[in-house]
Amino acid sequence: MTIYPIETGNFKLDGGAMFGVVPKTLWQRTNPADSNNLIDMSMRTMLIQDGDRLILIDTGTGNKQSDKFFGYYYFFGDFSLDTSLAKYGFHRDDITDVFLTHLHFDHCGGAIQWNKDRTGYEPAFKNAKFWSNKNHWQWAVEPNVREKASFLKENINPIEASGQLNFVNLPSGDFATNTALGFDILFADGHTEKQMIPHIQYKGKTLVFMADLLPTVGHIPLPYVMGYDTRPLLTMDEKAKFLNQAADNNYFLFLEHDATNELCTLKHTEKGVRLNQTYKFNQVFN
Ligand SMILES: [Zn+2]
Repeated sequence: MTIYPIETGNFKLDGGAMFGVVPKTLWQRTNPADSNNLIDMSMRTMLIQDGDRLILIDTGTGNKQSDKFFGYYYFFGDFSLDTSLAKYGFHRDDITDVFLTHLHFDHCGGAIQWNKDRTGYEPAFKNAKFWSNKNHWQWAVEPNVREKASFLKENINPIEASGQLNFVNLPSGDFATNTALGFDILFADGHTEKQMIPHIQYKGKTLVFMADLLPTVGHIPLPYVMGYDTRPLLTMDEKAKFLNQAADNNYFLFLEHDATNELCTLKHTEKGVRLNQTYKFNQVFN
């Protein structure tokens, strides 16, 4: 098995929204804001080459939304999914599986693109199975008012229409082993219903794709929960449990949204679980 970090682009989000009840005087130490109070965010996805499978975890936003829409998010940098795949000798048509941690636009928008004459949408990965789960899918197709701006129907409906949609089986608890993807999955409900957090055994280590359970290293202290989360108290419970496990077992956390840190490890301190060290992916796995 070989794993590659795939940068799909950077954008900016309101720092206050990203840190919920935490005051700016605290969060700006780790996530400095610009003059519009925006902080840098990455959309770092993961490519897993395993035998004849090529699995992409999340896709970034893609490029089908309007200039007005993208204007809200201040995209910057030179990354794109296609150039990042090409760097390792891959093309999007090689992808066999696209695993979507959840269906917020910055995680799944790239799964769908305009068709050639821009009259409708088509899968951006024509040879891939798309993976979600039944409960999250139902949650996303009938969005609550709070998440409505994140669940865009042009991202979601065409996936179902493509016939390429598959669901991961839901475990009786919150952790699934022996999944169809070949890695274990933690299911978390605080950010959104049944967000999926892949746990991958790789080169003797546990590598965890954090998605929105832990967007940046700035979010490690327990109360540092995004204003976007639908069930923030539950996020705090889920984080507490996960962060303790991660510190106990020296998990390597792969950060999708941290613009500067690709990986981190955690440690126990008197104040609770805190950052141990940050790494570039290739420093640990090469
Ligand atoms: Zn999200």
